[in-house]
Amino acid sequence: MQSPPFGGVTDERDGATVSMPLRQSLRVGSYLMRQKLSRNDKFPLLVELEPLFACNLKCAGCGKIQQPASLLKQRMPVEQALAAIEECGAPMVSIAGGEPLMHPQIDVIVDELIKRKKFVFLCTNALLIPKKLDKFKPSPYFTWVVHIDGLRERHDESVCKEGVFDDAVAAIKECQRRGFRVNTNTTFFNTDTPHTIIDVLNFLNDDLKIDAMQISPAYAYEKAPDQDHFLGVTETRELFRKAFGDGNRKRWRLNHTPLFLDFLEGKKDYSCTAWGIPSYSLLGWQKPCYLMSDGYVKTYKELIETTDWDAYGRGKDPRCSNCMAHCGYEPSAVLATTSSLRESIRALRGS
Ligand code: SF4
Ligand code: SF4
Repeated sequence: MQSPPFGGVTDERDGATVSMPLRQSLRVGSYLMRQKLSRNDKFPLLVELEPLFACNLKCAGCGKIQQPASLLKQRMPVEQALAAIEECGAPMVSIAGGEPLMHPQIDVIVDELIKRKKFVFLCTNALLIPKKLDKFKPSPYFTWVVHIDGLRERHDESVCKEGVFDDAVAAIKECQRRGFRVNTNTTFFNTDTPHTIIDVLNFLNDDLKIDAMQISPAYAYEKAPDQDHFLGVTETRELFRKAFGDGNRKRWRLNHTPLFLDFLEGKKDYSCTAWGIPSYSLLGWQKPCYLMSDGYVKTYKELIETTDWDAYGRGKDPRCSNCMAHCGYEPSAVLATTSSLRESIRALRGS
């Protein structure tokens, strides 16, 4: 999946259901406190675990499925996945790919992570959910994250296949019926308008009653076949500012910190802190983030120690110039939240 979920600290609504359950907020809060007390200035909040690159779809904006055939055939052994997560110590894991449900032991990876009290987000295009759902059990540590880029016509166009939207909606309803927590992940391109954003988020929020929705401006992967539809920073800010108007931002159960939403609207700006949401795949820990590949290393420690973090971010590396991705800027927003009493209270109100 292009943009895996980040369990943002919380939303900012008054009263209603919250985007991050209290248990998860407390666990992440105490993890952040421990990092602060031990004066650790670079640590992972959430790992993007990619145990395979293969997928059963061929989306035009995808930067993952262009890997060589020999790599697309590989599946990460369970022990390797668990060792990487244990080494880095992150409290949350987003399993993406490729399509993770094509991994024959994906349920074992999920179970073992849950046993270790990790909050697990399984990102999927949902096509294999009917076949695999019996292998999973609802848990406060487990959330499905279904990729939905728009309403029927728009989503099917985005994933380059008709019927996928209807299948994904049916799979979401079945997961909800069985008591699972279900989030969605929606990527926006320059073909989107405030209207298309509002339509899909209203549908997910009000009709499907999704627990929490993640949104992301598309990043222009070098390997993606379609390079013409990615958003620039000014376009992104304008799009989200308009879409969030009329009280929509407060009403939608968005899975992001208030400060990250401010960032998307252009009310705040931050430096990139990609070390906070690192990516581990069949190739190793990816430098500097899951969007760019300037090499791979074997451990998170090595990733932190051998990456020149000051060389990345908007204004520093031209490949970062249009990036407003949560993997670079949501950790920055989380850190800004925790360093301000006012922002902490704003973020915790929902919990
Ligand atoms: S669903 Fe689409 S974007 Fe996600 S991994 Fe498959 S091809 Fe890529
Ligand atoms: S700005 Fe940060 S997250 Fe975005 S591409 Fe550059 S290094 Fe990656």
